[in-house]
Amino acid sequence: MSLPIINNLNTPQSVPEVQTKYRRIVTSIPVPESMPILEALRKTEPASFSGQPPVVWDRASGIQIYDKWGNMWLDWSSGVLVANVGHSNIDVVNAIVSQAQSGLLHNYAFPSEIRAQLNEELLKISPKEFDRVFLLTTGSEATENAIKLAKAHGKSVDGDAKTNFISFDQSFHGRTLGAQLAGGVTSLKEWIGTTDSTFFQVPFPDGFRTKDTSFELFERTLENYSIQSNTVCGVMLESYQGGGASFAPKKYVQELRKWCDHNSALLIFDDVQGGFGRTGTMFGFEHYDIIPDLFCSAKGFASSLPISAVVGRSEIMDLFGPGEMTSTHSGNPVCAAAALANLKVIQQQNVVENAKVVGKLLQQQLSTIRDEFSEVIGAHHGKGLVGGLHVVKPGSEIPDGALAMRTVRRAIEKGLMLFAPVGFGGATIKVCPPLVISKDAILEGAAVLREAIEEALETR
Ligand code: PMP
Repeated sequence: MSLPIINNLNTPQSVPEVQTKYRRIVTSIPVPESMPILEALRKTEPASFSGQPPVVWDRASGIQIYDKWGNMWLDWSSGVLVANVGHSNIDVVNAIVSQAQSGLLHNYAFPSEIRAQLNEELLKISPKEFDRVFLLTTGSEATENAIKLAKAHGKSVDGDAKTNFISFDQSFHGRTLGAQLAGGVTSLKEWIGTTDSTFFQVPFPDGFRTKDTSFELFERTLENYSIQSNTVCGVMLESYQGGGASFAPKKYVQELRKWCDHNSALLIFDDVQGGFGRTGTMFGFEHYDIIPDLFCSAKGFASSLPISAVVGRSEIMDLFGPGEMTSTHSGNPVCAAAALANLKVIQQQNVVENAKVVGKLLQQQLSTIRDEFSEVIGAHHGKGLVGGLHVVKPGSEIPDGALAMRTVRRAIEKGLMLFAPVGFGGATIKVCPPLVISKDAILEGAAVLREAIEEALETR
């Protein structure tokens, strides 16, 4: 996902004051007093970090984000789809504090009780086919590891003849080397400078950018690449493409499952974004009624601290021997405590059900907004509490990243927190509130988004 760079240090715009139950804006944005902090970041961080709207987060709680200068935002970002149970959930905070005070902050791959508890809890909520969890720290590490397992599994089945790895156009699996080789945004991997002859991308059947959503397109594309099906070791897809909140048709994925079975290829779901209730089911892949061979989790796993996982069956996960598949911070005890508390909150507070019920309202609202602005919103995709509005030049399918960015900027000035547009042409406005959001906060956010689009259109 490439994010457009915004000039964080724009002259502050004057904005009307906003005061509702969920939003309070009492200054111009960026806040004049925040400029030294923005300047310090601009001077000390790479330019790549300057992609987000210029709001200096001071604290966040539940569905709201605060700065130091009296402003409060209704959060429709969850950071970046992390704060599933809300920001600073008290049980998660208590678990972190209690683990930190227990005297164990780090134990590498030496056994710890908290890691055992977390693995058991994650398996308890996963489909019964799974019996192994490999804890890591970031989403990229998880997808890299899934690629490693698919390649190793391919070797175990048919030696060097089975190393081809298939993923999808416009997919995003992280920013490290292997994750980017599997990624489907060409511009993001130009830095690599060379191609790897075992990584291939096929069109993603989103029904908007790719009209043909039949599984034949998958097979035809492999034929065009001259790839024999039995040389494929793995196929990886996001539960929904993060760049557009776009799902594949269920039938397509079910055929893909059969194809993978037939060809002894691993079907891997990158559920880094889609997991832990986001789409109204515990895991995003549940919408397709299939069981993957491996799935990757991260983001909402702890609703806070960095922790990720690859979940699979022992025959695949045990391909590497003792010490061959570890990481320094695997299952760090503080992160594990946060994740364990998070999984309990998700279950005890029916967070998944809330995402499903309130998510229906969000999708209705987004679909109405799409209809109202159909000239400039080419499609609305999403399920549960994730949605994407695909912004286009009037009456076309050409992405309009500038209009999407102006809309986000207006929304921020009105107290609705969104991250910078993502996806194809940087033109998808993505909405993804914490899963504990209420219906009235959805209605309020939708009204703000509508106004932000109108005003962004006026300043065209
Ligand atoms: N996979 C998907 C689907 C993602 O959305 C992301 C992050 N946006 C990643 C992998 C990479 O995760 P991380 O940034 O934690 O490395």
